[in-house]
Amino acid sequence: MQKSIHDEILSRRTFAIISHPDAGKTTMTEKLLYFGGAIRDAGTVKGKKTGKYATSDWMEIEKQRGISVTSSVLQFDYDGKRVNILDTPGHEDFSEDTYRTLMAVDAAVMMVDSAKGIEPQTIKLFKVCRMRGIPIFTFMNKMDRQGKEPLELMEELEEVLGIESYAMNYPIGMGKEFIGVYDRYNQRIEQARVEGESHFLPLNEDGELAVEHPMTETSYYKQALEDVLLLNEAGNEFDTERVAKGELTPVFFGSALTNFGVQTFLETFLKFAPSPQPRMTKDEQAVDPKAEEFSGFIFKIQANMNPAHRDRIAFVRIVSGSFERGMSVTIPRISKTVKLTQTTQFLADDRETVNEAVAGDIIGLYDTGNYQIGDTVVGGKSNFQFEALPQFTPELFVRVTAKNVMKSKHFHKGILQLVQEGAIQYYKTLHTEEVLLGAVGQLQFEVFEHRMKNEYNVEVHMEHIGSKVARWIENESDVKDSMTGQRSMLVKDRYDNLVFLFENDFALRWFGDKYPDIRLYNLL
Ligand code: GDP
Repeated sequence: MQKSIHDEILSRRTFAIISHPDAGKTTMTEKLLYFGGAIRDAGTVKGKKTGKYATSDWMEIEKQRGISVTSSVLQFDYDGKRVNILDTPGHEDFSEDTYRTLMAVDAAVMMVDSAKGIEPQTIKLFKVCRMRGIPIFTFMNKMDRQGKEPLELMEELEEVLGIESYAMNYPIGMGKEFIGVYDRYNQRIEQARVEGESHFLPLNEDGELAVEHPMTETSYYKQALEDVLLLNEAGNEFDTERVAKGELTPVFFGSALTNFGVQTFLETFLKFAPSPQPRMTKDEQAVDPKAEEFSGFIFKIQANMNPAHRDRIAFVRIVSGSFERGMSVTIPRISKTVKLTQTTQFLADDRETVNEAVAGDIIGLYDTGNYQIGDTVVGGKSNFQFEALPQFTPELFVRVTAKNVMKSKHFHKGILQLVQEGAIQYYKTLHTEEVLLGAVGQLQFEVFEHRMKNEYNVEVHMEHIGSKVARWIENESDVKDSMTGQRSMLVKDRYDNLVFLFENDFALRWFGDKYPDIRLYNLL
């Protein structure tokens, strides 16, 4: 029997994995796809580690480096749920797209390398999720290696990230002695390196192993029991409402590489991860995913997927209703109606055509230059717009000029378009009006340079400026030119807001001490 559209929508689980490079995101994604039956063996999703490239014709730069420039979407079915994983590029390809992808998900999985604890990129991505109030599920990875003590890792969650935690399971041993987990949620012990049913052992009413087993003699088992007892008495309670609000993170210990704890994690995650959530419009109306009319917003634009055609793909997170190929939608920003005949969807890097998708799903629309990041697309007669996507504080800046001054017109046109598209951020110096570009990741500059040359036929010269810390100003009228110095400069952003660029945190603090009346603030 075919599911109704409502049931389809309720079955969607759309999330992203956030982590610092090398924590195991790719390995985890492979294992999830494997359980979802999307791949036959836990082979390689991305080519970066093996030197093989993705099959589709990505941008030239991507082929050269063997990494994926912008995030793709992976989809599989499990237990009656349709799972959408949005990839968040994390290595050298970390960029604003990584942040914006988090605007399009309903939940996040935070992967932590248990030997390293909470790392810088995880903190940045976590903050974006926190701001959105979405549920965050933590997977403490690499338990098959010697790492930090489990209680210490949980303490880090509270101390570094300020989020309370609940251990869904607790490791028994670690590294070579990692023999399993004490599964508090399912009240059983899950054994590592044991196949089949005997993989799970039942607990009795006292929370101890209900069957005779040599494990009970080990110090690891005794330690785990002791720690679990401590958590039962002094730890947080499991509270689904607080999980849903992102105030409490359920924590799972496991090993993605040896595939231990991944399936239990997936099953529990799917139980508590939310179905597609409503979104607010600019007029502060919530749009219900089950509303009949199709609506969505663009969170990413990927250019030049096919260099021969210079086409772009606009990624849409569907917020409500369902999409059908050939339907007409309006882009309220420009009051334009377009017929959506060409769409793509991604599955393990093979592009497929989608005919139907519902709220929670991601679709790619071929774009000939209509769309901008943040745009709303709506079906029917509606004309509302979703609230704007946040702007993110860049951490890298370059001064950019055209190598050939005769190309100045193309240069400015190219910059304008790429800035509108969200590929890079635009700033200019106050009196000299030199153009500065800001980015959260170095790759954004490389993509910019490549696209200026290929799409606008302009070779650019870029020079890193020392500044790394940008701060906007609440009381702009109190700012004077004389406040700038060797370690700070004053510029304008694309909306003509004043921005201080400081060389480093030290220069920022020095400024704050010297001019305590200037109220500076940070975007996300
Ligand atoms: P990503 O950068 O977060 O996508 O990380 P990868 O999935 O590429 O993993 C980085 C490295 O850690 C690779 O060499 C993996 O084989 C290894 N790795 C991932 N998960 C585990 C794990 O559970 N245990 C161990 N020992 N290594 C792991």
